[in-house]
Amino acid sequence: MAVGRFGGIVSEKCMVIAIDGPAGSGKSSTAREIARRLGFVHLDTGAMYRAITLKGLRAGVHYEDTARLAAMMQSTEIRFTGTPPNMQVWMDGEDVSEAIRSDEVTRSVSDYCKPDVVRRELVSQQREIGAAQAVVTEGRDVTTVVFPEAELKFFMTASPEERARRRQKDFAKLGVEKSLDELVEEIRARDHKDSTRDHSPLRKAEDAEVIDTTRMNFEEQVSYIVDRAATLRR
Ligand code: C5P
Repeated sequence: MAVGRFGGIVSEKCMVIAIDGPAGSGKSSTAREIARRLGFVHLDTGAMYRAITLKGLRAGVHYEDTARLAAMMQSTEIRFTGTPPNMQVWMDGEDVSEAIRSDEVTRSVSDYCKPDVVRRELVSQQREIGAAQAVVTEGRDVTTVVFPEAELKFFMTASPEERARRRQKDFAKLGVEKSLDELVEEIRARDHKDSTRDHSPLRKAEDAEVIDTTRMNFEEQVSYIVDRAATLRR
């Protein structure tokens, strides 16, 4: 049992652990592993914005065409199945787990995640998922907008140089060489864009705990949050 979102005692069955932070801070892989260890659902909010982007691109619905976008939102069903780390993302009955990671989707998601009709509907679906079961969720607005009353809220970050080094390693695995300077530049530009945008800008919730992972390894990041959850569950 834990003291919960509505001030009273809530069952751990619907505990929400929410993690926001900039790209490359390690929040996605950390959230996935925490969910696996605790047996919680991993609610990957970015995957939902990616699924809508994929559908919009395929259907030729422009992100500024509010009427068609609104209609599309009403007729789209996004679901997650499986257990972390092997979760699948489904859109209208199709497994889109791989398709939503394509370059084309990655390039367009920052446009499709802007419109109010998209954000309102996805935020409402995210809250429904979080109300029904225990979740670990991560994104850009999960501590500030989606679950401001989550039992545990973290802002995960790392220096741009460290995040660039991590990116460089990921690229190297794909056989792509990129200079650190170039990656630091990209990261700074993306941080600026994410934190100055009009809709749900990336910012630290006042009562979120900052975890600076610059000098932490993966195991340290995961066990820090798992231990904090264990304290609440006692
Ligand atoms: O986390 P991921 O990189 O997969 O997210 C894809 C994009 O979706 C992000 O670049 C961000 O612009 C958007 N996003 C968002 N709000 C969230 C999660 C992601 O706007 N809660």
